[in-house]
Amino acid sequence: MTRVTDPAGATNATTPGAPAAPETDDPGHDGHWLRSFARPELWAAAGYDASHHDFAWQHRELARLMSNECPLPPDDVVIEAALSAMREANFYPNSAWELRDALADFAGVEKHSVILGNGSTEILDVVTRTFITPGDEAVIPVPTYAFFETQVRLNGGVAVLVPTTADLGFDIPAIRAAVTPRTKLIFLCSPNNPIGRSWTEEEVVAVLETGIPTVIDQAYLECGYGRSFAPLISRFPNLIVTRTMSKAYGLAAVRVGYGLADPAVIDLLLRVRIPFSVSLVGARACLAAVREPGYLDRRRRYISDERDRLFAVLSTLPGVVPWPSETNFITIDVTATGRPSSDYVAEAKAEHLLLRRVAAHRLEGQYVRVTIGTIEENDRFLEVFSRSVPGAETPGADPAAR
Ligand SMILES: *Cc1c(COP(=O)(O)O)cnc(C)c1O
Repeated sequence: MTRVTDPAGATNATTPGAPAAPETDDPGHDGHWLRSFARPELWAAAGYDASHHDFAWQHRELARLMSNECPLPPDDVVIEAALSAMREANFYPNSAWELRDALADFAGVEKHSVILGNGSTEILDVVTRTFITPGDEAVIPVPTYAFFETQVRLNGGVAVLVPTTADLGFDIPAIRAAVTPRTKLIFLCSPNNPIGRSWTEEEVVAVLETGIPTVIDQAYLECGYGRSFAPLISRFPNLIVTRTMSKAYGLAAVRVGYGLADPAVIDLLLRVRIPFSVSLVGARACLAAVREPGYLDRRRRYISDERDRLFAVLSTLPGVVPWPSETNFITIDVTATGRPSSDYVAEAKAEHLLLRRVAAHRLEGQYVRVTIGTIEENDRFLEVFSRSVPGAETPGADPAAR
């Protein structure tokens, strides 16, 4: 367990009343007059770096295998629904109660147990602002989604990071031992980004029994056939599940996600969330997708089949260890190939494939993450990636291997 202060050594988050963070050459931090007014937590915080997304948008010839998007575009019925909303875009949106009710049915909870948001990212932000004040602690098993830690620190909280066991297992005794009287939140992610695997119900219950408000981020749930923890809400009023339309549903650009929790928790979160954060266009598009028979099942099947195919081929490459995944990505341990992950990413980029290094998640070793793309992109990935692995034969795009 590590109690993290920020890398520059500024510890104002942990020591209320301490002087502001040291001066720095960073042009974003040098505004002297700003320091007297802005929240001190902000000087030590780093915002989310979205430059790899902009890069992909600016280079449309590159295959986007870097940010866990769905390669399948929306069906026409969803596009028509979005267009119909545009015809009434002069009005403020309604609260999207139809979408809320449809998602409540889908998740198997009652309608007052649902809060919609501008992506599940907004729900994670709202939850953090609801519970964390300066000096409060949040327990975060790592490696995981970096946004949890970022938001805790932005709010002046202390991220208490609990590493996995050596075999990438979730360390339940260590997580429970990390809880102190200052702990206000625990963040779990299932299936986990970047580990790829889900938590078991026993593990989740062991954490929920601490009584600490606990977020389980299930952004990747519908990319596989794993367990939804939404049914545990009736037993554990301290549980908040977050889910999204961005991944398996393939609607990342419309920005709709949701939270599931006890109605008393939802009521509090709704006070914190800004009004109108879900657009009419987004709500109508998502409602059409949720209602369309087979819409999700086709995507879930496609993602699962392609993921299993990539995993099987990757497993045959010398020194390459793909991690089993229930998501739309595979994290690949390339440490034993003797080459740094940056080589793999660079060589793929030269062949117009965008991959992602996994480095920001407090992992030692060399890791590359690939998102499941179209069949053609996946074939090309296998070919290019294999060529980068010392001593590997190139599988090529052999249709019989599918
Ligand atoms: C992609 C992702 C999200 C998604 O966020 P949205 O705001 O719903 O698009 C949330 N959590 C994790 C772990 C993710 O990887």
